[in-house]
Amino acid sequence: MMGANSSRRAVALVSITTGPQPVLIGGFAGALTRAVAQRLDPATLRAAHRRLHVKAVIIAVWYLASFAGVVLASGWLEGLAAAASLSLAFAAVGFNIQHDANHNAFFAASTKRLSRANRIVGWSMFVVGADANRWLYRHNTLHHSSPNVVGIDSDINLGPLARFAPFQRRYFWHRYQHIYLWPLYCFTVLEIMFNDLATLVGASRHARSSRSRLTDASVALLTKFGFVAVMFGLPLLTHPFWVVAVGALAVMFAVGFLLGVVFQSAHVVEGAEFAAAGSRPPYQWHEWQVRSSLDFSHGSGPLSRLFRWYAGGLDHQTEHHLFPRVPHTAYPLIAPVISAVCADYDIPRHVQPSFRAAVASHYRHIRAMGRPLLAPDTNPS
Ligand SMILES: [Zn+2]
Repeated sequence: MMGANSSRRAVALVSITTGPQPVLIGGFAGALTRAVAQRLDPATLRAAHRRLHVKAVIIAVWYLASFAGVVLASGWLEGLAAAASLSLAFAAVGFNIQHDANHNAFFAASTKRLSRANRIVGWSMFVVGADANRWLYRHNTLHHSSPNVVGIDSDINLGPLARFAPFQRRYFWHRYQHIYLWPLYCFTVLEIMFNDLATLVGASRHARSSRSRLTDASVALLTKFGFVAVMFGLPLLTHPFWVVAVGALAVMFAVGFLLGVVFQSAHVVEGAEFAAAGSRPPYQWHEWQVRSSLDFSHGSGPLSRLFRWYAGGLDHQTEHHLFPRVPHTAYPLIAPVISAVCADYDIPRHVQPSFRAAVASHYRHIRAMGRPLLAPDTNPS
């Protein structure tokens, strides 16, 4: 039987989830929350936070050293190596630091409200050129509250460029989307930055903020200016303009590709469920999070461990969606617990053995969505 502390912990973990989900203690949600609360005692959570903080310092140093390498490179090989390292570190900041912080998970927080410390670390989003405030709405509100729901989840909305869900309208060019989407993923970072700026003139599809329009505009403009001034201005002191322009574009494309592939392979895959625009998912909130997400790195081999370290919990997407306020360094601990509760309630939990297998599943899914006979358009309006 659980003690009073465990019960309080269970209630706190329910509030760890974000979005407008109901607070339920019974059934699947209650069993899940109690089981995870038992696994994550305070000492275990503190250790997970410590691991995350050490990791963040390593990644921050990696990012700064890579950028210094780009600025100081004196030859092609050095420059290429530094740019490749910067691309990987750039994405790592997004995966491991800003993502946890903007979910209120980087530092322990007693309530759902984003704490000041987490908000400040979440500003690392500005350091990689994106708007932390807009991310909170686009990712935390639109995506996390309604993953794979057409018309709400911005991650599955590429307009007419892609058909990710069976409820999205099919165009004839989707027949080839399993080929052309991969290079399009390279534009993920540029699309995020463009939408940040489009927000200023009310042209973004994902624009909304509780802050004043003037404050949003000032923050967006100043941080974008600072990012461009540092990322382009400093390398221009030591390299010709065209080298900086080509190098910067290559880094943006590499990071965009990484972000696009990792994010899409966690939801837009075989077996993951989708809901039509204007409808509510036919399951309770916690169950929907499980049914619409995919884990892809439960292995214990060196490659799996390395990728798990790098991917910042995005490889444990189900754990992340159920408990986004738990630091991602604790996800491997609660994964078996979640598997057991899902098995008890006969809820399908999607797990691929590796990132490569998840990417292959994403490929097969978008190819199937592009085929008219295999994926009839049920919502052609
Ligand atoms: Zn998230």
